[in-house]
Amino acid sequence: MGVLVNPRTNYYYDNLIRYECLECEKGFIVGKYLSQNSDKDIICPYYHSDRVEADACSDDDLLERYQLGCLNLGYYKEK
Ligand SMILES: [Zn+2]
Repeated sequence: MGVLVNPRTNYYYDNLIRYECLECEKGFIVGKYLSQNSDKDIICPYYHSDRVEADACSDDDLLERYQLGCLNLGYYKEK
């Protein structure tokens, strides 16, 4: 779901998913809600391979606890 930051604008902090690329073995992070609500495939940002695998994910409790501030990814949800 993510963490609601601003009820007026329905702005949420997104949970973070860490992916690893099976081609170059580099890691990268995407937003959970953003990636699940996109019609695009997730690809490695370095070599554009689609052979990627999620290996870690934050949850709402973790997001609230660590207060990432400007490092958070966010999204506006339709009301
Ligand atoms: Zn790669």
